[in-house]
Amino acid sequence: MSGPAASSSSPTAHLMGVYGRAPLAFERGEGARLISTEGEAYLDCVAGIATNALGHAHPRLVEAVKAQSEKLWHVSNIFRIPEQEKLADRLTAESFADVVFFTNSGSEAIETALKLARKYHAAKGQPERIDIITFEGAFHGRTYAAVNAGGNAAYLDGFGPRLPGFIHLPFGDHEALKAAIGPTTAAILIEPVQGEGGARAVPDHCLRGLRDLCDQEGILLIYDEVQCGLGRTGKLFAYEWSGAAPDVMCLAKALGSGFPVGACLATNDAASGMIVGAHGSTFGGNPLAMAVGFAAVDEICKPETMDNVREVSAYLSQQLNGLRDRYPDVIVDVRGRGLLIGIKLIPNNREFMVMARDQKLLVAGGGDNCIRLLPPLTLTLAEAQEAISKIERTCDQVRQNAAKA
Ligand SMILES: *Cc1c(COP(=O)(O)O)cnc(C)c1O
Repeated sequence: MSGPAASSSSPTAHLMGVYGRAPLAFERGEGARLISTEGEAYLDCVAGIATNALGHAHPRLVEAVKAQSEKLWHVSNIFRIPEQEKLADRLTAESFADVVFFTNSGSEAIETALKLARKYHAAKGQPERIDIITFEGAFHGRTYAAVNAGGNAAYLDGFGPRLPGFIHLPFGDHEALKAAIGPTTAAILIEPVQGEGGARAVPDHCLRGLRDLCDQEGILLIYDEVQCGLGRTGKLFAYEWSGAAPDVMCLAKALGSGFPVGACLATNDAASGMIVGAHGSTFGGNPLAMAVGFAAVDEICKPETMDNVREVSAYLSQQLNGLRDRYPDVIVDVRGRGLLIGIKLIPNNREFMVMARDQKLLVAGGGDNCIRLLPPLTLTLAEAQEAISKIERTCDQVRQNAAKA
């Protein structure tokens, strides 16, 4: 093949068509503000996609990237990586966990957790324990095992036979759960607050019930906190609200505050099968990602960050419930926890997102006809007020369109 690159009328002609992209691109960002290539400012209540927890171009993170990029980007895990040890020390000090495996994404953290769970039982002489129980509405990522764990048919159809060892149960059906556990069960995998499924929080007593059940049955409890972890709910980890710690936990999105890095955390016991050679990653845990991750976690852990999440989320929740009361023809439910907020709509959520964009507000979509607000944890009260008036204007617009139709 030779010759000039094919010209095409569409700027995305050479990208695999797996995304339904908005006709909008950005040039730069600052805090909760994104500036488009057309020079227009948007209020960003997507924050990457719950990744940029500290907003865009946070000075501490910019400094961390600059400083580490001038020293060392990547070395193999065949060597010690002090930046990795430092972040692992911090994450384990702040959580239930004893050990960490670093990845580049949430899906890889989930892969690690799934492998760890099967290996755990194999190492303890029960290799028949392979089944992972997950729940309807779950999202665990897009790799083979992760889509099989999630169980969303739209992500599985056409990709050949489903992988064995995944059991999907209805959300909140305790009897179905008890009935599903048996001698081949390895683990329960759950998001303490479902993200993509539409910001559904698992009640605290249910997480405590899961903890007891796993203890009784000798199976592992795995939390997917890729989206709800690291400050998003107003505590560093979402499970802290319930007091029910897991055996294994996956993190990613906010861990690098926009820089790609994920992690699988575990107790020493849960990780007992993960011996030399059992697992690995080329890029996972590289010094550049670790330096940014450490700076992000250190900032997220600050009491003022967590206080801000609680204050701003309380305000948003109160205001959004007010909008639901005033616009019952638009908003049916407001849910979620902290700054992982789901707004279940009557009009189509994708159309609502386009209309919000016209108001210069960026929100995320979600399952169950929800839109999600996933702003930076640093969103100010003034910015939250601005978001509310933009949502209110969008609701007005929905009404006007309905009147015209
Ligand atoms: C985003 C997400 C994942 C997958 O993370 P990737 O980095 O896209 O692989 C897994 N679980 C949850 C809950 C997520 O929100």
